[in-house]
Amino acid sequence: TSPNPWPSTPASENPKNVAIFTSGGDAQGMNAAVRAAAGVCLQYGVNVYAIHCGYQGMVEGGDMIEKLTWASIGDIMQKGGTVIGSARCKEFRTREGRKQAAQNLVKYDINCLIAIGGDGTLTGAHVFKQEWPDFLAELKEEGTITEQQFEEHKFLSLMGMVGSIDNDMCGFSMTIGCDSALHRICEAVDALTTTAMSHQRTFIVEVMGRNCGFLALMAALACGADFVLVPEHPPPVEDWKAAMCDSLLRRRRYTNFSLIILAEGATDIHRNPITADIVKQVCCDNLGHDTRVTTLGHVQRGGAPSAFDRILATRCGAEAALAVLNATPETPARIIGAQGNRIVQLDLTEAVEQTRQVGTELDNRAFEKVRELRGPVFRQELNIFLRIRQHHMDEPPKHVFNVLVFHTGAPAAGMNACAKAITRDFLNGGHKVYGARGGFMGIFDDDIIPLEWQTVKGWASQGGCNLGAERLLPSDVPDGLTKVAATLKKYNIHAMVCIGGFEGYAAMTHLFKSRDEFPEFRIPLTLVPATISNNVPGTTTSLGSDTALNTIVGAIDCVKQSARSSRRRVFIVETQGHNCGFLASIGALAGGADIAYIREEGVRLRHISADIANLHRKFKELSCAVIVRSERSSQNYDTQFLSKVLDEEGKPETKDDTAFSVRSVILGHLQQGGTPSPLDRVYGCRLGASCVQFLLQHMTENVDENGVVSTNSPESAAVIGTHDSARTATAFEQLEPITDVALRTNKHTWWQNLHRLTRVLGNSMRSGDLC
Ligand code: ATP
Repeated sequence: TSPNPWPSTPASENPKNVAIFTSGGDAQGMNAAVRAAAGVCLQYGVNVYAIHCGYQGMVEGGDMIEKLTWASIGDIMQKGGTVIGSARCKEFRTREGRKQAAQNLVKYDINCLIAIGGDGTLTGAHVFKQEWPDFLAELKEEGTITEQQFEEHKFLSLMGMVGSIDNDMCGFSMTIGCDSALHRICEAVDALTTTAMSHQRTFIVEVMGRNCGFLALMAALACGADFVLVPEHPPPVEDWKAAMCDSLLRRRRYTNFSLIILAEGATDIHRNPITADIVKQVCCDNLGHDTRVTTLGHVQRGGAPSAFDRILATRCGAEAALAVLNATPETPARIIGAQGNRIVQLDLTEAVEQTRQVGTELDNRAFEKVRELRGPVFRQELNIFLRIRQHHMDEPPKHVFNVLVFHTGAPAAGMNACAKAITRDFLNGGHKVYGARGGFMGIFDDDIIPLEWQTVKGWASQGGCNLGAERLLPSDVPDGLTKVAATLKKYNIHAMVCIGGFEGYAAMTHLFKSRDEFPEFRIPLTLVPATISNNVPGTTTSLGSDTALNTIVGAIDCVKQSARSSRRRVFIVETQGHNCGFLASIGALAGGADIAYIREEGVRLRHISADIANLHRKFKELSCAVIVRSERSSQNYDTQFLSKVLDEEGKPETKDDTAFSVRSVILGHLQQGGTPSPLDRVYGCRLGASCVQFLLQHMTENVDENGVVSTNSPESAAVIGTHDSARTATAFEQLEPITDVALRTNKHTWWQNLHRLTRVLGNSMRSGDLC
């Protein structure tokens, strides 16, 4: 449902004026949503207003309702909070207040509303839409509005978006603000971990979430916490204190500090609150731990929005604008949000009612029902956390399997988290895990190490890849496959996991295709995609790409700041990605760049020419512009060439021309490094857990009485990826037709649908862009 292709005109017959407002608690990404919704309206020549301070502004009217222009939305995306303000408004809870708000909207000719807020905001909006016809009839009756105004505003179109750091709206996988809040939590916990380690302390970190434990759970996975307390899953025993102490003690055998993450609404199974102070008391009294509490509070709402939140908010905002512009009187109020990688519309009342039901079910202590309402992602994450944290075997396995884990290609954030999850999950099942150091190089040279529980300690939050990665493949060395087969035989390996990029995909496919020649390869063979380029087939997202996008977005924020101070400057930012334009295209969208050049679209002189004309036009009002260029977008028109062309063309020909200067920055390997983003850590755990499930299933189905695993089925050799919210295993054989081996790309690229949105919102459309 992404907003492409762009309709040439909104379908509605009535002229529309749109108003956008943010309400309830603020959330990072709200500004990106406002920019996107307003940008789409402006692109279609529709008047668009911001209502300041939510419903308060709607009730007050006057200066609180302000017309938006390209200039007013040009510099807001990177800011935290909401620049148009938010408030909680008592008057709007009364019919009188809402009628006053209706009168103000008619005054400004507004008949479309886009609301961004939590369930309270959306409920208020729904009530308002239902009452709208009555309000208008009454206002006409009283003579406050004219007959013509009544006719023109009979219908109110309404679309909502969920801005909430708690991620508490049922039906969506992530809400706007949640990922940025996770960034704040992970930054804080990473910092606390070093001091906890130095002093052998136990740290309790309290995060937001009264009825919703999403933040706590995701943070626990991302930071490798020892224990998590969330409202949806109280420790399922009478004596939670003993259960927690037992778990912490067991894990202290391998570590000198402990980390407990607690959602502010955590309770025991009887719904008695479990507060940070109670947990601290238990850790001090029962375990004798030196224990400290950190309550993160409003820090979690602060700071710049993450790349993920900017992309999510931008996609939702654009979709909301298109939806209100195309709405008919019959269109019901809807909310727009993400289900995995897809942007979907849900019935507003149903989603809000379901969300409210969570509170009721919690009070009824129906925890199973609550977890069901939270959706599959929450349940999967809880399951993964409980599995990789437990450190004990339920019962010894019938067959002990040996699994080999290694990396191929360049390092990518999340590789370590994935290797950790795989290691611990297998060890908990009583199996053995080996790691090959330096990828295939380690396999050729017999540089194989056992991966133990403590080997992978702390890996969830570490960047790079601790096992080492190399680009060298079996096809690059004489007898490469024979050497791999020999090592597999020596260690009696029953399954292989390569966590890597396109080289890994090519190598594992090569092993799969050589099964006839080498019986050693007739075992389950998997690739977990990990590359910042996100070019591996069989997944929509590969590990490392989110961290790289955050680096790109941070760089764009910095150059924009510099460009603004210099006045009328164009920055060209070059990203990696080989032949795949994902990083450049989505990085540009997330960074609010004006244009992105990618190989998939091609870069022709006529494009550059049209873009130069746009820059001259835009610099009459603006002071900076950013072009993101994928490193292989064009063989000849490279970054240096573009800089020179733009610099030359930026010189004024006449005194009326707006001059601009050009600078460029090549981000290079910066994009591969750094601390992994929370999402890459969480995805690493998720994909690792899916991989373990896949391998266990195929090993168990294909093992004989002597413990020999042998399978020749194509399904047992697969990419473990993610599509929307679901984890998938797609056989290498199935992926062949959608893979461009020469260009090392995936022919199915969901993100290309979004490419044009960057130019729409950058007000940089070329003629013919609106089809
Ligand atoms: P958060 O999740 O951050 O609390 P929220 O949108 O749920 O955000 P609320 O304070 O519940 O925040 O609601 C915001 C505003 O929406 C309220 O101040 C009020 O003006 C309006 N509102 C909420 N519920 C209703 C309702 N039932 N009828 C009319 N207006 C409402």
